[in-house]
Amino acid sequence: MNQYFADMHIHVGRTKSGRAVKITGAKTLTVSNIISHARDRKGLHMVGIIDCHSPEVLDELEELASKGELVRHQDGGLMYGGLCIIPGSELEIRSEATGAPIHVLCFFPNLAVMRDFSKYLSLHLKNIHLSSQRVYLTGKALQDKTKELGGLFIPAHIFTPFKSLYGKGVKQSLSEVFDEKKIDAVELGLSADTEMADAIKELGEYTFLTNSDAHSLAKIAREYQAVFMEDTSFHEFSLVLRQEAGRKVAANYGLDPLLGKYHRTVCSNCLTPIPEGGEACSQCKNSRYVKGVADRIVELSSGKRNNVQRPPYIHQVPLEFIPGVGKKAMESLMDHFGTEMSVLHSVPFEALKKAVPERTAELIVQAREGKLKVHAGGGGRYGKVQDKK
Ligand SMILES: [Zn+2]
Ligand SMILES: [Zn+2]
Repeated sequence: MNQYFADMHIHVGRTKSGRAVKITGAKTLTVSNIISHARDRKGLHMVGIIDCHSPEVLDELEELASKGELVRHQDGGLMYGGLCIIPGSELEIRSEATGAPIHVLCFFPNLAVMRDFSKYLSLHLKNIHLSSQRVYLTGKALQDKTKELGGLFIPAHIFTPFKSLYGKGVKQSLSEVFDEKKIDAVELGLSADTEMADAIKELGEYTFLTNSDAHSLAKIAREYQAVFMEDTSFHEFSLVLRQEAGRKVAANYGLDPLLGKYHRTVCSNCLTPIPEGGEACSQCKNSRYVKGVADRIVELSSGKRNNVQRPPYIHQVPLEFIPGVGKKAMESLMDHFGTEMSVLHSVPFEALKKAVPERTAELIVQAREGKLKVHAGGGGRYGKVQDKK
């Protein structure tokens, strides 16, 4: 069995012709830039491109296939050199229980099936060219269609306060919205980790994924997983999710949840943390708040942790969060060590010191060892690493 790095939630900002897909995504986030950045700079082996329902994105991938640059893997997935691309789509459904929007990820084995799914979707949403669109289908109907086409179905960033299953989507249980047997895994999102998610009983049987939800090239692989597979393909990845034949997630690499944008409950007006039981914001007297993921999990928790074997969840601090790693330091690191994966995981302190100032090298090593001090994020603002000795 081999170990591979996979980030399964990457958006497309623009098509080759410049047409917007993820409107809030970066203009440089094109299919060809995603491929080269993910493979050569980040050091990933497998990516999920999650806007493949967009017809121009499909055209682009088909063009790469017709030129022979993108090759269909016999077990599903599309190979570009050493990088395996799994085509997919992020969609928004509404909870029948609460009316709240919920994001989900659907993955498919090849471009022909992806095209069929895109055609089907175009009958059920307003603009097939755009990302993360509201589909006018129930969660269960979308699951049925995904399964009929041989796809994988994964609720996305399940704890974020907006647009997620446990944010506002369910009162008690995911069965209010989905058929629990047709869920292949769940994505934790930036503000939660395995420890937090295992406080929810019904999640005990699912594989946890940690993906970047990147809206720009720099954010690719800010979360990812190491997976054990024989090879990189759609079929192998589905075995990973089912934890069959020795395939499994070997480790989740996720943002320290404190760094996530929605970790703690804050005032919706000025983002001041609201203490437990606090009525109004101490700073601006506003009484509305954005509930943090940590508090939401406590609400949903059974009080007992799931008794399941989980891969380690390794808190990682992306290089861009590390004080002192600006554009110049980043360029120097890439020139010296090739990929961000090697800087984050393996390059020794002595070598780092030759590429960046000693203090920056120290912080990179501390990040690796989980020793950085972090200010919690909330209300849509990321947490921050403190540069204190
Ligand atoms: Zn989303
Ligand atoms: Zn997304």
